[in-house]
Amino acid sequence: MKRRLFLAGLGAACCSRLLHAQALPKPDRKDLCPVCGMLVAKYPNWLATIVWPDGHAHFFDGAKDMFKFLQDLPKYAPGHRAGEISRILVTDFYNLERIDARQAWYVIGSDVYGPMGHEFVPLASKADAGDFQKEHKGRSVLAFDQISPALVAQVDAGKF
Ligand SMILES: [Zn+2]
Repeated sequence: MKRRLFLAGLGAACCSRLLHAQALPKPDRKDLCPVCGMLVAKYPNWLATIVWPDGHAHFFDGAKDMFKFLQDLPKYAPGHRAGEISRILVTDFYNLERIDARQAWYVIGSDVYGPMGHEFVPLASKADAGDFQKEHKGRSVLAFDQISPALVAQVDAGKF
């Protein structure tokens, strides 16, 4: 009886770890951003992640490069299709938790710079995005679907 309990406990620990790993893959030391070529693990506060159904992931050193990637998959990841993406995650600026990129809000034109310069700073809620905008002189708050290639080019150039 004791032995069975022990095994049951082991099984639970094993599976919860597995589930966790599946839910949030992490970059290792050598993972490079497919857009700019920088080492991603050096910038955990800016990490963005795209997870595919077979469990493999692409990591980015900021939401801006993630948007560039999504907007030109044939260039950055031939053979991948946007419709097949399992999850897109960005890192919330305030609590550094990884959040659903499609539900996040993005502030542009602020005084906060990412590893690649001007950024789309991700926040978990519209209220947090409003607070951040006030604290850091942001120009606008945007939803995921509002971020077009033209807007990404503008942010890159520092024009808001
Ligand atoms: Zn990058």
